Amino acid sequence: MASKSTFDFAQWPPKLASSHSESLLLRATRYALAHGLLYLPPGIQPSIPASAIHAPFSLLPTPFPRGQFERAKRLQSIYNVLYARIAMDTEFLDEVMGQERGVGKVDDFVGKLWSGWKALRDEGLDQRLHLGLFRSDYLLHVSGSADDEILLKQVEFNTISSSFGTLSQRVSEMHRHLYATTGFFDLSTHLKPENFPPNDTVSGLAEGLVAAHAAYNVPGSQVLFVVQPGERNVFDQLWLEYELLERHFVAPYQLPCLVYVCRHSIPVIRCTLDELSTRATVSGVNQPLYISTSSTNTIEISTIYFRSCYTPTDFRTPEHYSTRFLLEKSRAIKCPSIPLQLAGGKKVQEVLTREGVVEKFLLSQSDSNSTSCTKEDIDDLKESWMQMWGLDASPSETGSGGDGIERALSNHLNLVLKPQREGGGNNVYKEDIPPFLETLKDEEKAAWIAMELINPPKALGGYLVRAGDTGNVSTEEKVVKSEVVSELGIFGWALFGDGLRSTERTAGEVSGRVREKQIGWLVRTKGKESNEGGVATGFSVLDSIVLV
Ligand code: ADP
Ligand code: MG
Ligand code: MG
Repeated sequence: MASKSTFDFAQWPPKLASSHSESLLLRATRYALAHGLLYLPPGIQPSIPASAIHAPFSLLPTPFPRGQFERAKRLQSIYNVLYARIAMDTEFLDEVMGQERGVGKVDDFVGKLWSGWKALRDEGLDQRLHLGLFRSDYLLHVSGSADDEILLKQVEFNTISSSFGTLSQRVSEMHRHLYATTGFFDLSTHLKPENFPPNDTVSGLAEGLVAAHAAYNVPGSQVLFVVQPGERNVFDQLWLEYELLERHFVAPYQLPCLVYVCRHSIPVIRCTLDELSTRATVSGVNQPLYISTSSTNTIEISTIYFRSCYTPTDFRTPEHYSTRFLLEKSRAIKCPSIPLQLAGGKKVQEVLTREGVVEKFLLSQSDSNSTSCTKEDIDDLKESWMQMWGLDASPSETGSGGDGIERALSNHLNLVLKPQREGGGNNVYKEDIPPFLETLKDEEKAAWIAMELINPPKALGGYLVRAGDTGNVSTEEKVVKSEVVSELGIFGWALFGDGLRSTERTAGEVSGRVREKQIGWLVRTKGKESNEGGVATGFSVLDSIVLV
């Protein structure tokens, strides 16, 4: 499945004259401001925002091998099904992430989530349906071999709060606009629309939420977005909200030859955990969730979409956990449910690489709408993984003669260590590993995995544009030419559980407990010198790709 790209990455990016750079920057900035490619500015904001700044972006799309892009899209359906099945496998999650036997024993955050879920199960929680809006992230990897094959390798799989989907579509559209208005000044024969893959992430993510809302099937119910207080990446969420309410779509009419245009017309309520602690009510386990909208009015919630609750800092007090568990207790469809959130743990990613585990999930069951998974699909999936092991692994488990720590120490310059956290900024890299391991307590080892570093193609450059600000900054200061690494994320959704309606099954849409779809994509490009560089946390920009 590897591809030997004939594209010369060292020749990228084409040289930009300063007049070209200025013209592209002006057009791109105007486009971003006019099309909601925006953030709220840093600092404390008024409750009604008064201004916004454009998100950081790349001036040119980044070259990406066509075969590897197609492969990433193909893999997404397999991943959608895989993670749906993991989330439905309570025994597996108890074993790997639980507080009695798994990571939850040593990781307080994971332990709290798991034990809250376990307590609800003991009360009779019956999760009939779960929704996942997923993003599988990849970097290109150059295998050290002589022929320099370029292969896609998975960084991680996100099951909660996978962000930047809608803004990434705006960046793709911005790059198309730059082509339409400048032809990118004929700088490269590759820069033309045939090489810009379509990116319909906004409608794709909304489609997942619509599927859950429709399956809940209560007229007048609404979708709840659980958000962080002071969220700056609010426009990324609002695009989805507007899509759910306003977007027109074409639906088949009763007669096969006719179609009619209708709206999703699904209103969204946005709340923080603090707001929900006073506004949310659930009368008992598996009962509807109601949100009060005034002293006399409540709204039933069909689907809860979490853009919060993925990190311990979202839970500043025990009451925040109680509110999260109140939501879990309800009949509303959670995106994600706690088991699906736990399935996205880095530990699960590592356990999947152990012998026979992925086969157990993919080969023995045939309950998805995708055609069943073959041995070749699984080989392809495995080829997208780097080596991983737990820091608590025994010598027999690592197969390297040493235990998990020894193996990590002996190869530390080629490794990243990861805890069970999301949102960037939590990993330990290369030369920082030995001093870190000296301070790591024995009982904390089980909370960490070691992963081989992906080795991206060298010498690929790009033009990065910092987030907008109000200062009078010259084009030279704004457009930073840098060696870059680009991370591709492929989005997918899955609606799954025993509650998929039998009518849907007979209509042929669903052949079992998982209904899923691969949707759009995201590219984040960072300066090569930074190990991480999340768009929200460091100098990394939103980008799109040109297939080569
Ligand atoms: P998070 O859930 O916090 O986003 P990630 O696993 O995505 O955690 O790690 C954060 C970042 O670290 C990634 O976006 C990537 O830039 C870098 N990274 C993670 N794993 C690897 C790896 N195996 N090789 C190279 N870089 C990696
Ligand atoms: Mg993540
Ligand atoms: Mg990540």
